[in-house]
Amino acid sequence: MRTLDQLVDEGLAGRTVLVRSDLNVPLDGDRITDDGRIRASVPTIATLTAAGARVIVTAHLGRPDGKPSPEFSLEPVAARLGELLGRPVRLEQLGDGISGHTDGEVVLLDNIRFDPRETAKDDAERAGLARELAALTGENGAVVSDGFGVVHRKQASVYDVAHDLPAYAGRLVADEVAVLRRLTEDPDRPFVVVLGGSKVSDKLGVIEALLPKVDSLLVGGGMCFTFLAAQGHDVGASLLETDQIATCRTLLESGKIVLPSDVVVADEFAAHAAIRVVSADAVPDGWMGLDIGPASVRAFATVISGAASVFWNGPMGVFEMVPFAEGTRGVAQAIVGSDAFSVVGGGDSAAAVRLLGLPEDGFSHISTGGGASLEYLEGKQLPGLAVLDGSRS
Ligand code: ADP
Ligand code: MG
Repeated sequence: MRTLDQLVDEGLAGRTVLVRSDLNVPLDGDRITDDGRIRASVPTIATLTAAGARVIVTAHLGRPDGKPSPEFSLEPVAARLGELLGRPVRLEQLGDGISGHTDGEVVLLDNIRFDPRETAKDDAERAGLARELAALTGENGAVVSDGFGVVHRKQASVYDVAHDLPAYAGRLVADEVAVLRRLTEDPDRPFVVVLGGSKVSDKLGVIEALLPKVDSLLVGGGMCFTFLAAQGHDVGASLLETDQIATCRTLLESGKIVLPSDVVVADEFAAHAAIRVVSADAVPDGWMGLDIGPASVRAFATVISGAASVFWNGPMGVFEMVPFAEGTRGVAQAIVGSDAFSVVGGGDSAAAVRLLGLPEDGFSHISTGGGASLEYLEGKQLPGLAVLDGSRS
């Protein structure tokens, strides 16, 4: 993989560089509720502008279904990116072309998913859009892949464009890959993985891939109930994937999976529900488990405090509601308090860190890509990374 430093060393004055960033941030109207991904995109863009490049950033926002629509415009993102870079960011529509681009100036193309070819299954359609993007860079252009959150997608601006321009890994992509490689190839031990979130079926691939490599796998969140059911317990009205029970039973044979001993149950899925803490093998009929209990937090924290590497994906409970946030908070605090090399992967887990006011620098790395980081840990080939290795020189 060629690096950003190599590109800078080639000399960038007068050259135009296309950067694929991941600026897919949560919005409430046109207010950005979490700008983590925008901040993560800054180092690469700032490096390029400092080296004198004319930078064209391309990115997507949400799922606009292949047609322009104001609610999915990157306009608020352009404003925030400009503040963070300390220089204006000009928003342009793809079809309009870019005129008067000066050295060091940043242009942001509006949502690339306004064009249906971005996510087309048809290779020729995607290639057509990729050629248009490449042509914007004129003579002697280059593309920098920095949208880690999309490298698992075979899309025009992520994958195909690297066939039309010499391609380089941006800082964020390089950092994310280095961290995940360390966890998959040579983790410091004990290596503890903490998994939560809603569905076992979403995470089965990563559980199967990581189980042989980890020393302990702590399971909370909605997915723990399918494991508890696999041990023969009644889980009441908790999330349960009956078609995964047999698989969970097999996974439990590894002896490495630690389940909660107590859970917080509620009589309905609401912040104002009646709440009880019960033993994990005694969830009352009709009640649903929405968080791990305090004894489980203590037990998980003890395992985490002895770890040398920790990977955490998926909240321990429905952290969006105050009464069910303590399990996630407790586990996150244990990770922050440990000396382990710690990585958070997963959109909701990263959001939980910020929502609960935990210090982001308390973790060694917070991944910007949930799906991409899980697929990397599963050992899958990610098209956006593979193409960088084979890019045109
Ligand atoms: P990530 O994005 O970090 O990979 P997921 O998307 O897998 O995480 O899961 C996040 C969701 O899981 C959150 O919205 C949270 O409310 C939900 N969740 C966690 N625990 C439970 C539970 N016990 N029951 C239902 N939903 C849960
Ligand atoms: Mg999620």
